[in-house]
Amino acid sequence: MAVERTLSIIKPDAVAKNAIGEILGRFEKAGLKVVAMKMLHLSREQAEGFYAEHKERPFFGDLVGFMTSGPVTVQVLEGEDAVKKNRDLMGATNPKDAEAGTIRADFAETIDENAVHGSDSTESAAREVDYFFADEEICPRTR
Ligand code: GDP
Ligand code: MG
Repeated sequence: MAVERTLSIIKPDAVAKNAIGEILGRFEKAGLKVVAMKMLHLSREQAEGFYAEHKERPFFGDLVGFMTSGPVTVQVLEGEDAVKKNRDLMGATNPKDAEAGTIRADFAETIDENAVHGSDSTESAAREVDYFFADEEICPRTR
């Protein structure tokens, strides 16, 4: 297994629930390291650009409305198999299908407000990390 980086977002619903720390704690306990992070309130343009692959989906307008409804935290997680490890910690897209103990099972109720985003492949991760962070904003963990 290779050391990878993946993009994670704590979405507006989970930030509003004051669950930032608990969710970041799950990443850390699983051995993923935060190597970059910021809090921001996405503009409509930022949210539309980030989710461009879903532009034709019927829920796109709702998704953009939700993602711009309050602040989010955006972080880069690094570790062995980070893309899959993060997706496993997140659980299924629909919290109703998410395995017990996953972030979505514990912090979300509906598919449209599902607590977290995580890159779905190393290719998406590279694009998504680049979407939010300049190279010099990523801090390799050397100690
Ligand atoms: P993910 O990779 O597990 O986040 O899921 P997708 O890439 O398929 O979808 C992106 C995001 O769009 C999801 O996390 C949801 O927030 C949202 N979404 C997906 N399907 C639906 C839906 O049927 N209705 C609504 N309102 N939002 C959805
Ligand atoms: Mg996705």
